[in-house]
Amino acid sequence: MTDLPQSCDVVVVGAGAAGLVAAADLAASGLDVTVVEAEETVGGRVRSRVLDGYVLDRGFQVLNTAYPAVRRRLDLDALRLRSFPKGMAVRTDRGLVRLTASPGGALSSLSLLSGTLVRPSDLARLLRAVAADALLPASRLKERPETDTLTALRRLGLGRRAVNTLVRPFLAGVFLDPGLGTSSRVNDLVWRSFARGRLTVPETGVQAVSDQLAARAGDARVVLGVPVREVAPGLVRTEAGTVRARAVVVAVGPGAVARLLPGVAAPVLNPATTYYHCRPASSDDDPLLHVDGRSRRGDSGLSSVMVLTATAPSYAPPGRALIASSVVGAQRPSPERVGAEAARLLGTGDTDWEHLDTVHVPDALPAAPPPMGDLRKPSALGEGLYVAGDHRDTPSLQGALVSGQRAASAVLADLAGAERSDGRE
Ligand SMILES: Cc1cc2nc3c(=O)[nH]c(=O)nc-3n(C[C@H](O)[C@H](O)[C@H](O)COP(=O)(O)OP(=O)(O)OC[C@H]3O[C@@H](n4cnc5c(N)ncnc54)[C@H](O)[C@@H]3O)c2cc1C
Repeated sequence: MTDLPQSCDVVVVGAGAAGLVAAADLAASGLDVTVVEAEETVGGRVRSRVLDGYVLDRGFQVLNTAYPAVRRRLDLDALRLRSFPKGMAVRTDRGLVRLTASPGGALSSLSLLSGTLVRPSDLARLLRAVAADALLPASRLKERPETDTLTALRRLGLGRRAVNTLVRPFLAGVFLDPGLGTSSRVNDLVWRSFARGRLTVPETGVQAVSDQLAARAGDARVVLGVPVREVAPGLVRTEAGTVRARAVVVAVGPGAVARLLPGVAAPVLNPATTYYHCRPASSDDDPLLHVDGRSRRGDSGLSSVMVLTATAPSYAPPGRALIASSVVGAQRPSPERVGAEAARLLGTGDTDWEHLDTVHVPDALPAAPPPMGDLRKPSALGEGLYVAGDHRDTPSLQGALVSGQRAASAVLADLAGAERSDGRE
């Protein structure tokens, strides 16, 4: 175990993606850096645990290979990524509709095109919008007038049925925000990444992402299992002692940030609960994300179901299937109820499902309502205090990585400025 030093150049509080990237950049510049993490493992929300041979991520999540910071900061080949097929399966009032992307990128489905699910004109509008998001540079997307996602969809001319049957069930799982109140700017950028990249999981679980970020944090000292109690200019008080530092970066996630930095407004939190079930694997296991597009949805809050092992068989022992069912919002229905509803969405029997675990993450994503402006909240708070995390950028791994980078740059610029003025005196 690494001991807590009495002093160092920079303390980074939190070993999630943002904290690890900040630590990597600061250590690479030759500073003496200590990362203090409350939990016994690095990764924060990007963690996995193995239970009886099943890989259980800290909630169902995917790694988008088009995120620019993901490409810059991770060795994707080393993660041995498994790619989910592009598309989704929608359980509608008239049965299951599978929407899959052709190599050219267009969604195709006979029943969809013939108008049983949405009007062809709605489909055309949606595809045009996604194509524009995919092709335009991100800087142009950020210049568009900003509103909430629902209003933006209506302005596209999308009918209520298309929104409720197709778009809302999908986006509810992406932003954990079924009301579609997320900034249209964030929505545009996420669609852009979906269209340009692959949605994947590392073969051994998302923990591999965090382990790689920690390995890349180089010479930074990582102290695990030590909760920080208080942060003040020049010092960090923990349950294991006090560390003095020239700068402190607080990267504790949206649920904890306001406790340590009372000057930072507490972000609104979007919770998520993932129910993991297992059963015998079948060659019929469908790798598409299944969502509920019925006019009368089940009342458990179930948002989507994914048979993870249809894409990543390494997530379960041989011959077994692992199923992740996501419930958005604060509700916590029983595993039996979720399992039964998930089996109905998939269109399979539920008699041989076994509940493995329920993972509730109260601060799964910070809400990102408009106005998000340039999507970047400042990192430097003054007096040697800095803040990083997805709540300072976009609610995603991309946002966390970028905000960690920005915080490190701000620290380096301030320390260099301080050294210059010391030299002048
Ligand atoms: C269920 C779920 C699904 C998701 N799906 C996706 C997805 O598909 N795609 C995507 O890009 N993103 C997704 N995300 C979001 C993504 O995981 C986060 O945006 C990102 O991991 C945030 O990283 P972070 O470093 O900002 O915060 P965190 O990962 O929350 O890290 C904060 C760290 O600070 C530590 N900490 C807190 N308080 C203290 C303290 N007092 N002292 C010391 N340490 C402390 C915590 O233990 C934690 O390790 C999902 C998240 C969840 C939970």
